[in-house]
Order: sequence, then C-alpha cells, then structure tokens
Amino acid sequence: MAEGTPAARRGGVRTPDLETPFVFNADGSRNFLHPADVRGRWQRRKNVVYAALIAFYLALPWASVGGHPAALFDIPRRQAFLFGLALTSEDFWLLFFVLSGAGFALIVATSLWGRVWCGFACPQTVFLEGVFRRIERLVEGSRDARIRRNLGPLTGDKVARKLAKHGIFIALCVAVAHAFLAYFIPARELLGIVRAAPAAHWTAFLWATVMAALLYFDFAWFREQTCLVVCPYGRFQSALIDDDSVVIGYDAARGEPRVKATETGGDCIDCRRCVVVCPTGIDIRNGLQLECVGCSNCVDACDEIMDKLGRARGLIRYDSKRGFDGVRRRFLRPRVAIYAALGLIGATVFAFSVAGRAPFEVRALRTRGMPYTFEGDKLRNLFNVRVENKRAEARTFTLRAGSPAGVSPAPEVIVAQGEVTLEGLSDTTVPVFVTLPASAYREPFPVPLTVTETASGRATTIELRVLGP
Ligand code: SF4
Ligand code: SF4
Repeated sequence: MAEGTPAARRGGVRTPDLETPFVFNADGSRNFLHPADVRGRWQRRKNVVYAALIAFYLALPWASVGGHPAALFDIPRRQAFLFGLALTSEDFWLLFFVLSGAGFALIVATSLWGRVWCGFACPQTVFLEGVFRRIERLVEGSRDARIRRNLGPLTGDKVARKLAKHGIFIALCVAVAHAFLAYFIPARELLGIVRAAPAAHWTAFLWATVMAALLYFDFAWFREQTCLVVCPYGRFQSALIDDDSVVIGYDAARGEPRVKATETGGDCIDCRRCVVVCPTGIDIRNGLQLECVGCSNCVDACDEIMDKLGRARGLIRYDSKRGFDGVRRRFLRPRVAIYAALGLIGATVFAFSVAGRAPFEVRALRTRGMPYTFEGDKLRNLFNVRVENKRAEARTFTLRAGSPAGVSPAPEVIVAQGEVTLEGLSDTTVPVFVTLPASAYREPFPVPLTVTETASGRATTIELRVLGP
C-alpha cells in the first residue's frame, strides 16, 4: 500500500478514492455495498416523489383517455395509444419525436439541475431506493447489522431473514413484471392471461418470467452496477453540465481542514457519515464524480451531523460550481437555450405532424412478379387496395372506380367490396380487377379509385396503373 494513499491513511481500511471504483475490489470482484439508512428533508421529498411515481407507473396502463388506454403499445395488433393519441404501425415514426422530446427535456434538466432524473425519477432509483432497499432494511436491519450478519456464520436467523427477503423480492418482481406487461397487452386481456394456465399463453408467460428474473437480478444483486456499468446517461452527463449546473457537492472551503469536533479547523469532522450512506460507494468530498447519481443521501447525512454540532447546514449541498466558489450562479445560459430551442422545434414538428395526419390511408399493391395476366383475348390487372382506418373509432368507407380518360373501349373495373366497415386502427385489403381486350391496350394508363369516409365525406383518390405487354 503506497504511503499517503487514502487506504494507508486509514490504517489499511479501504476508502473511496478517485483512482479505483469502490464497487470493485483489487482482484476485480464485486465490493457489495451496504448503504446506511438516512433521514432528512430530501428523503422526505423523495418519498413523496417515489410514491407518486410508482402510483403513476402502475396506474397508467389502466387509466383511460378518450375510451382507450392512456399508454399501450400493442405490438401484435400494430397499434399504440398514448395519452389520447392513437397510432398505427404507419405512424410509429412519430414516436421518434416523443422519445427525442423526452431526451431533450432530460438534457435541459441535466444542464440546469445535474442528475435530478437519476436521483428522483429514474425507475431504477425509484424502485431500488423506494421499495427494495426499504424491505431489505426492514427484514435484515441496519447497515451494521447487515454487514455483521453477512460476514458471520450461517445461522437459523440468517437463513430465515434471507429467505423472507428474497421471497418478498421475487413476489414483488413478478408483480412489477406484470404491471410492465400491461404497457404491451391491454390491461383487461392481461387479467385474463394471468388467470389462465401458463400453457394457454406461452409467449406472455415467457415474457413475464424473463422480465421478473431480470428485475430480481437487478434489484436483489446488480443494483448500483446498472447505473455505473450499464446506463449510458451517466457517461455523457459531464458533457451536459457546466459551472452553473446545480449538482451535489462538498464545500471544501468551509470543510477543510478536517478536524475533530472539539478542535479548531474546518467544519468537516471526518465522521464519514456521507460516505456510508452513498448507494454507489463514493466520497463526495473527493469532488463530483461519474458515480454520483444525485440521490442527496449525503446531503441529509451531513446536515444531520451539522445539526448535532450546532453548525449551519449545507456543508454538502445542492449548488453549482460557481456557487461553491462564492460566485452568483447563472440560470439561463447559451447551452440551456440551445437545448430548449431544439426540444421546442421537435415538439412543434410533432404537433404539426399529429394535426396533419390523414384519418385514413389507401394504398394499392400488385401481386409481385405478375403485373398482368391474360384470360383468352382479355388482359387483366389485379390490385390489392389496402384501406387503413387511422382513427380510434370504427368507420365505414366506400370505394368507387372511375373511368380512365382516352382508353377505348373503357375497361371493366370490378371492386370486390364497394363498402367496408373497419374497427378503429384496423385495415383491410379489397381486390380490384381491371379487364380490357388485349388488342385495345396501347400503353400503361391510370384508373382512378376514390375511397370516401362516409361519416365525414372526406375522400382520397389513388391511381391504379394498368400495365400490359
Ligand atoms: S458527513 Fe459531513 S462532517 Fe461527516 S465526513 Fe461527511 S462532510 Fe464531513
Ligand atoms: S455522492 Fe451523495 S448524492 Fe452522489 S450518489 Fe453518493 S450519496 Fe448520492
């Protein structure tokens, strides 16, 4: 151990530093963390946010907007509903704007308030900190009790507590997996699937099982590794924040030099309470680090210590780098304005695209490799006309063929179904036959076909291009 390293200073006990990730041991194995419980004003605020978000995540697919699920991505039926917006597979490109809009909102939030998403709203944090860690503390006790028990021999008490904890974890993961499936299977259909035997719905059963297994792996074991190793967002956050972004930091000017509570020096008494509560195992006193998920545990932990010492809170606090340097923070900066403007442009394009969507779509397809056929001395073209109702409600459409100009004798046009009624967000294919004497064919010509939505009178005319030898 090199002299002067944090470990050396602590007499051989390893402490977080900037040289190695604390969550890994020197041999590359996992250093499993046992974050201590913490109380304080930010924990109370997070509890309210977590409860509201969990209720929101779980209730959303069951809520209804305009008679349809508030959020449903029905992949087998190639349709989606999102807060009253009904989308068919043809409209899925619009989701690009929804996702990029969410991305820009996240970027703006990050440049203003650092990793506020990670600490307060990411489902990983919300479920891990808001549900699973709480259960762990409830069943296995405080950080010290958990460490002692994990290092100790296998006793009846240890087995019972582990079984109870993992049993609750598995039950919760199964429940959350099903709640998540409700975003892809209509909620009432899902209820029927859950009640039926697994063999009756193998695909859904498999999805639910895989998802529950992944959730269990994540929340029972992988935990902070998801944020540190898997999530890409943490990697580029340093490119999004600047000296004016609000982050969680340590006021080194006030805290250093670290001394005992009874001695004269900085305000930090090196109690390490801010370190043991950190869910990613870092020491924020080493400066802002990639591993900090902005959970605010260290803020509350240090405030508690300052309260006990009768000193001002905020040795660790939400502030910008400028703020920590004693300079006034700027809220609006060019980068925030540019990110917000890009997001606004995307939102505007999305709004116009949604407003300008046709309520139905008509498209003619031919049998591949067979543009025309002969029946005796007759030339025949077969078209498959696809009519798609893009409204969420059922609609009736009429199909009428017109006469092509300048073709004599006029070809015979047979529309297999002159009227079709389609359920909301569904489509059908209507065959259309165009027949004429082969000797009358000179060159390709168009036959107009008009499809009219009977309720609104709105019509679309397409051209069926007749081909011949
Ligand atoms: S909790 Fe506060 S006083 Fe204790 S080590 Fe951390 S910064 Fe220092
Ligand atoms: S340093 Fe503080 S805010 Fe960052 S992850 Fe650790 S406890 Fe949470």
